[in-house]
Amino acid sequence: MTTNPSGTPKARQFKSSESYRVRVLTLFPEAFPGVLGLGLHGKALAAGLWTLEVYDLRQHGLGSHQSVDAPPYGGGAGMVLRPDVLAAALDALAPAPAPIPAPAPIPTPTTTPTPTPVRSPSAKAGASPDPSPDPAPAPIPALGDAARSSPPSPPTMDSQREPLLYLSPRAVPLTQAQVRRFASGAGLTLLCGRYEGIDQRFLDEYQVEEVSLGDFVLSGGEVAALALLEAVVRLLPGVLGNQASKADESFSQVRGGLLEYPQFTRPAEWRGRVVPAVLQGGNHKAIAEWRQAAAKKITAERRPDLLPQNQKQQGKKKQDKTT
Ligand code: SAH
Repeated sequence: MTTNPSGTPKARQFKSSESYRVRVLTLFPEAFPGVLGLGLHGKALAAGLWTLEVYDLRQHGLGSHQSVDAPPYGGGAGMVLRPDVLAAALDALAPAPAPIPAPAPIPTPTTTPTPTPVRSPSAKAGASPDPSPDPAPAPIPALGDAARSSPPSPPTMDSQREPLLYLSPRAVPLTQAQVRRFASGAGLTLLCGRYEGIDQRFLDEYQVEEVSLGDFVLSGGEVAALALLEAVVRLLPGVLGNQASKADESFSQVRGGLLEYPQFTRPAEWRGRVVPAVLQGGNHKAIAEWRQAAAKKITAERRPDLLPQNQKQQGKKKQDKTT
């Protein structure tokens, strides 16, 4: 167990300047690396193609209970993560490395470190009541910076260098285009929420980008962070054995953003169901045409919003709204 009397965040860190750097702030550090330690993602982590630093928010909790949350102003169920606690946790992180100008070759690691999650001795599941709540509620802040009562103080963390994301249901659901954008950068800092979420002022102050896994509500951001990282890490150079497979799959640009065509393997006949004859022949042009038609059909049936003509219309509608 990692004890940390100084109260500063402690995380297993194994870095090389060329690695994609992931930092996670969470109340449940033991959730990481989870599935990211398995398979090709785990191998890539051990090889140093990407690094994972997990920070326990509880270490910045207040009072003898290391409290991280408080009841919501205006009443209502549940607790909200405090902005001061989150800011302390974020400000204590080591600054992100400078962006790398050009993709550098992946170094051959001399060691194969195994990630170990950070554990706080006092970390507990569930909300803890704030022993010293603020006596009188201040006016309810509006979204954005409009409700600032004091001059802005710039956050100490250099948020320009790598995206700071909050896993949250309050965003347009994550797309593969976003995943590609995240994978093309130097790394990510992820903030996992719990309870009713995070104080809005923190999100405004640090210009946090919200990322949703879908239109449903989880109890915490950890599973969403794992899913996001699962998608991002597989796009990093050298992680997937077959580089071609990630260029040719659902949502990929070469496929026009369509869903993938149906896949078949051996046996050629199974329970009376036969693999389409064209796929069993060697005519590559005919196979490509069949697959393109099948991809269009399945996309039209399941996700007509992804068809190129509808994408254009959606783009136009968005443009009309902003002009
Ligand atoms: N009260 C909030 C829900 C909070 S759920 C609301 O109604 O919008 C608690 C935490 O789970 C959130 O802070 C967030 O980090 C995570 N979470 C819940 N649903 C999520 C989703 N669809 N995508 C990503 N994170 C999610």
